[in-house]
Amino acid sequence: MNILIVNAGSSSLKFQLIKADETFETLYEGIVDGIGRASCFFTASAGTKSVTYKKRIPDHAKALNEAVSILFEFGVIKSLKEIDAVGHRVVHGGEKYTKATKLTVPVVRNIEAIAELAPLHNPANLQGIYASMEIITHAPHIAIFDTAFHQTLPEKAYKYALPEDWYKDYHIRKYGFHGTNHKYIAHQTYTLIGKNKGKIITCHLGNGSSISAIKDNVCVETSMGFTPLEGIPMGTRSGSIDPAIPLYMMDKLKIDSKKMDTILNKNSGILAISDLSSDVRDIWERAQKNNKKALYTLEKLAYEIALKIGAYAAAMDGLDAITFTAGIGENAWYLRRDICSYLNHLGVKLDSRKNRSNAAQIQDEESKVKIFVIKANEGKQMAREVFNFLNK
Ligand code: AMP
Repeated sequence: MNILIVNAGSSSLKFQLIKADETFETLYEGIVDGIGRASCFFTASAGTKSVTYKKRIPDHAKALNEAVSILFEFGVIKSLKEIDAVGHRVVHGGEKYTKATKLTVPVVRNIEAIAELAPLHNPANLQGIYASMEIITHAPHIAIFDTAFHQTLPEKAYKYALPEDWYKDYHIRKYGFHGTNHKYIAHQTYTLIGKNKGKIITCHLGNGSSISAIKDNVCVETSMGFTPLEGIPMGTRSGSIDPAIPLYMMDKLKIDSKKMDTILNKNSGILAISDLSSDVRDIWERAQKNNKKALYTLEKLAYEIALKIGAYAAAMDGLDAITFTAGIGENAWYLRRDICSYLNHLGVKLDSRKNRSNAAQIQDEESKVKIFVIKANEGKQMAREVFNFLNK
């Protein structure tokens, strides 16, 4: 069974064709970036074949057509009929969607309605859905929601200390994001520890970052909240701050909520702390030259992440494993080292050599807590969910 995975952003479209067998191997993948702009970047690969070029691509339907024509050119498949199902990434499923769901007209309407809660993401995801449903008419289209995995949070975790009618009338609650990768990473971690029980903390540290606490395969806490702004500092997002700060600064700077939203989402986080870059690779390069701001940024990041891990160990009353994933989690060994240095009291002990080489398992022999480094793979998890949905 071949499953096409579509992840549409406002001006981008990522695609993957995955063969659903024991390994869920990726047959073909790529990205169209800059849809609607004067020049758009297209890159795709299948095994040893690859192609990269620039051209104008006006909309998501044309972007998908481009992806399909290269798919045929590479000879991966010869007809659209060889695509058995399409899985779509949808960032926000609200409280309604707790698992993979077939995209019917009423479901698409609901996702359009939920877009109010995720104005940057759901409308972009919908562009990919509209385009794909028009082009691939013979196969089922399944939505996979980023929020779904976190719908198991207990009330004490998902409710804020705010007026109850804000929850009832305006749906203000913690939703959590990156759920597809947290679920994938939890699954891989349980496989590595050899049982389906245990208290694990998954640290998805990328351009956007979130941390989840998973007890016996059930997500019980997560750091992103009503929006992906809550939690630890990220590339350009502030993460959690005193909620009075934006009110105070809107008054001081005479700016409206839209401007404040831009500052908190685009001009804060690692970029603001370092005053250098939002990319940890740049920060590390400067830190090695003893740049003070770069050194402080790494110190601040490690501290904030360690605080969350400590809190989540408390939420679960114990800790069996920590797994690091995504761009920073998989590569920034110096951050993993610094994060773990706060966690000795929990029985966390790194093997510095294994950590330095980004090995898959990096705790030392005496560590009471297992520590893993696992590559993020949302596409594979999405394909699994589509497969399981169609074979239930
Ligand atoms: P992601 O969102 O998972 O694609 O992660 C992207 C982020 O990971 C980048 O913005 C970088 O900050 C970070 N990153 C990627 N590669 C490395 C690396 N080799 N070392 C440190 N950080 C990295």
